[in-house]
Amino acid sequence: MTESKSITELQHICDVLIVGAGAAGLSLALKLAPFANVNVLSKGKLAEGSTLYAQGGVAAVFSDDDNIEDHIQDTLVAGANLCDEEAVRFTVSNAKESIQWLIDTGVDFDTEVDQLGQTQYHLTQEGGHSHRRILHSADATGKEIENTLLSAVKKHKNINLMEGYNAIDLITSRKLNLPANRILGAYVWNRKAECVETVKAHFVTLATGGASKVYQYTSNPDVSSGDGIALAWRSGCRIANMEFNQFHPTCLFHPDAKSFLLSEALRGEGALLLRPDGTRFMPDFDQRAELAPRDIVARAIDYEMKRLGVDCMYLDISHKDKEFIVKHFPTIYRRCLLLGIDMAVQPMPIVPAAHYSCGGVMIDHHGQTDIDGLYAIGEVSYTGLHGANRLASNSLLECIVYAHACAKDIINRLPFYKEHKFAIIPDWDDSQVENSDEAVVIQHNWHELRLFMWDYVGIVRTDKRLERALRRVQLLQQEIDEYYSNFKVGNNLLELRNLVQVAEIIIKSAMQRKESRGLHYNLDYPNQLDNPQPTILSPDKNS
Ligand SMILES: Cc1cc2nc3c(=O)[nH]c(=O)nc-3n(C[C@H](O)[C@H](O)[C@H](O)COP(=O)(O)OP(=O)(O)OC[C@H]3O[C@@H](n4cnc5c(N)ncnc54)[C@H](O)[C@@H]3O)c2cc1C
Repeated sequence: MTESKSITELQHICDVLIVGAGAAGLSLALKLAPFANVNVLSKGKLAEGSTLYAQGGVAAVFSDDDNIEDHIQDTLVAGANLCDEEAVRFTVSNAKESIQWLIDTGVDFDTEVDQLGQTQYHLTQEGGHSHRRILHSADATGKEIENTLLSAVKKHKNINLMEGYNAIDLITSRKLNLPANRILGAYVWNRKAECVETVKAHFVTLATGGASKVYQYTSNPDVSSGDGIALAWRSGCRIANMEFNQFHPTCLFHPDAKSFLLSEALRGEGALLLRPDGTRFMPDFDQRAELAPRDIVARAIDYEMKRLGVDCMYLDISHKDKEFIVKHFPTIYRRCLLLGIDMAVQPMPIVPAAHYSCGGVMIDHHGQTDIDGLYAIGEVSYTGLHGANRLASNSLLECIVYAHACAKDIINRLPFYKEHKFAIIPDWDDSQVENSDEAVVIQHNWHELRLFMWDYVGIVRTDKRLERALRRVQLLQQEIDEYYSNFKVGNNLLELRNLVQVAEIIIKSAMQRKESRGLHYNLDYPNQLDNPQPTILSPDKNS
């Protein structure tokens, strides 16, 4: 039962509201805290998000043998001629400083002693990188980053952590028929008290992560339901390049594994991809073999699985010493062993799974969106860095670089807004809705959506499949809108409403691209256009 609350309890006020407590949101909060009162929302447990599960590491030039220009070129090549070169240069040039900030904040990356007896960061290599440049904490880099940032945030008196709050919708001056198009705050669902509250803020930053949960099989945690993209879209922001969803080639195929990821670093360290009969297949697809970019590897696996009619392929690193495997991949080793697979002596069964959203809310180099005062950083955003395909380990980097850039911009602008009073915002009105009578509708639509997205809008697409998917998504949308208007909100309904919106954006983006490039592969358009452009959808034109 919902306890009744007074108006003051239902309203929060802060300088900056950050929606999301992953690498992007927490880095921003720490940078802002000396200058501003910050509220940070996480809809689930505080640490839960993709950041926590990142294994491989963060890319930055730390070796004397490496250089920034090569990192830029590797990113551009992986992005298949669709990156925004300015964004790539901006991110890569700021990489070392951003990673140094993580180190100064307490993140403990692995080190090694070189031949001269000097301690250096141990750098791994991943697919698409021409050098060893991945800083990591064994194979649990994300956990180290998330926990370190979280403990720093918890110590800061200016940061108010709001755990278990879903942002439902943004509040803008345009929605309230006030002048200009400026952010004013957000309505948020307090999961514990089961009621909707209001957060008023001078600035709001979306740091909600990706949308890979729109697919049946995903490496992502449950919170990756594209909420920030849907919130921004409903408020009038442009969304770009959503047809480019990265499928990680190697998730463990096991009924109890729930898409546990087998890091790219395994292939970087020599793991081979095998058919069920033990033969290698990657050399038949690309001269870089197992070190080819992820899209090529994922498509090759998908192709071989469909050709042979089998449920999975295999990843084998058992030719390496057990000691090496256990030292470099302790988490993966332990997890596999628990499931009865000893990776030091046998190959691991794998399938591809939706992993990373390259597109998102369009922003500039400060993270500013189309709405004044609304920012987006991390996986929810589209910066232009990834183009048609993300280079491994560039995403955590993007979170930190853009969090810092966003903080700088907000700190510059904040004194002006602190002078202003907050607008009067009407409380959430749920007087006309009732408790849901048939939760099965949500459950059913969840499954239906994620299954047809996997089958029709997955690794390989056709025009016919996309048209089919669009018809289905529009039907679901009607049903969910009706449900949303009649019943009280809850986590599953809020996520489903956002997912179905994001699914429609993905399908429409895929339909607009009349070529195959990077992560988007359409059998009806196997070739590449000469002058490719990002796909930009605008809610004003597509509503
Ligand atoms: C298994 C796995 C391995 C990976 N490995 C690597 C790697 O080695 N290197 C690399 O660079 N990248 C890697 N990635 C990608 C990288 O981890 C993510 O892109 C990055 O962590 C995203 O960080 P974020 O801060 O944008 O979002 P997240 O870390 O996903 O955090 C999202 C936050 O938003 C909150 N949230 C979402 N919606 C709402 C809402 N409506 N209301 C309130 N809160 C909300 C969530 O609760 C959460 O706190 C990996 C991803 C996965 C899944």
